Amino acid sequence: MELYRKTAAELSKMLAAKEISAVELTQDVLARTDAVEDKVQGYITVTKEAALAQAQAIDAKRAAGEALAPLAGVPVAVKDNICTQGTLTTCASKMLYNFVPPYQATAADKLAQAGLVVTGKANMDEFAMGSSCENSAAHPTHNPHDLERVPGGSSGGSAAVVAAGEVPISLGSDTGGSIRQPASFCGVVGLKPTYGAVSRYGLIAFASSLDQIGPFGRCVEDAALLLDVITGHDPKHDSTSVKTPFEGTTHANLNADVKGLRIGLPKEYFGAGISDEVKKSVLAAADTYKALGAEVFEISLPLVEYALPIYYILSSAEASSNLARFDGVKYGFRAEGIEDIVDLYVQSRSQGFGSEVQRRIMLGTYVLSSGYYDAYYKKARAAQRRIKAEFAGAFEKCDVILTPVAPTTAYKLGEKSTDPLEMYAGDICTVSVNIAGLPAMVQPCGFDSAKLPIGMQLIGPRFGEQTLLNAGLAFENASGLKNIVAL
Ligand code: GLN
Repeated sequence: MELYRKTAAELSKMLAAKEISAVELTQDVLARTDAVEDKVQGYITVTKEAALAQAQAIDAKRAAGEALAPLAGVPVAVKDNICTQGTLTTCASKMLYNFVPPYQATAADKLAQAGLVVTGKANMDEFAMGSSCENSAAHPTHNPHDLERVPGGSSGGSAAVVAAGEVPISLGSDTGGSIRQPASFCGVVGLKPTYGAVSRYGLIAFASSLDQIGPFGRCVEDAALLLDVITGHDPKHDSTSVKTPFEGTTHANLNADVKGLRIGLPKEYFGAGISDEVKKSVLAAADTYKALGAEVFEISLPLVEYALPIYYILSSAEASSNLARFDGVKYGFRAEGIEDIVDLYVQSRSQGFGSEVQRRIMLGTYVLSSGYYDAYYKKARAAQRRIKAEFAGAFEKCDVILTPVAPTTAYKLGEKSTDPLEMYAGDICTVSVNIAGLPAMVQPCGFDSAKLPIGMQLIGPRFGEQTLLNAGLAFENASGLKNIVAL
């Protein structure tokens, strides 16, 4: 029946009506995975048996008449930096090549509570550092729209498996754009929640003050459904998590009416460096909003110019501290033939971490070292406050901000992997959102001349998720750009 082409929302209805079983559905998406995974390589681990067992358990509960959550029985992939109890979680690093977490991340636990069927662990850039999914110790992932191109990163696997129809929805994580940029490159929807909306417990930390877990889907409705599963205050495990006004309710409150919605177009996001095709497509989306009755006007966010250095200073500083725990002693990779304890640390970390991760650790250690702390880290924190204030000012004038996601569409594998600075430059449109702790959603808004998807980004004020989803749905309905299955 090609169930793999259906959205999670459609599947959820079919399951509830008992038109299909969770086992049938799981078998269908696993067969699709068998058919295309050789080409896409979006997974690090496919958990076939466990998935079928979970599906069977859900079917039994449904047959017994138990009340089930809307997504019960729907397959989902999970990024490999989210701890899944009993299932290999490598963070795409040699450092964690054998790490089987003894505990469950809160987000993964919520998936289990809601009865979702986990199909596997999705590929990523090592420790979520990268923008192309090429920094994986496992293998690179290929963009299902053009297998010679990158899927984006770091959640490239999570985006690619959804785009290829290997699974309808997935979880990724976003520290500086890692959900949004791959969503854009792969033609799917990806949402980075407000900082604190989703518990980070069990998400292997990259930069704790910026990291957020969020959903991928092939339509806005699916992003809302999955967001509703994972949001929630987690006072026991994550003290930075908060109670949100939209907890568990975004799907029920979807409303595609954008009449009178104030949409700001920040001119700095449409300047030099952004390809003409991307600009044109995002501006055409702005015209669609106008036609739907929204008020669209230009705004200015001049500090965006400084967002990249601020992000790379802050995120690397936190990474250098977070990654100190991987020392070859407690778990994960340990170098052989070592002479003493210092040699153990040095060899394990030198051999266990890939070059991008080592670069970030060095950069982070440098900006935190005495003598440079004031010049770099402290200044970046001060600049972060200015960026937050600038966004707060903008949201007095508008309800959402519409921007491009990345300067270009998906580029060729290997094209940027030897030039870290060029790779970092691709994050210019996404990092400010994390610096300011805001929610943002990406969805397809067109295709370029090479038939590659172009994404647009809607940024909201803190806890503005509902507004983003509603605005996204309005565009999706008007454009018909939804549920694009590639390959
Ligand atoms: N591309 C950015 C980086 O390399 C963002 C990564 C992320 O969001 N995890 O740091």
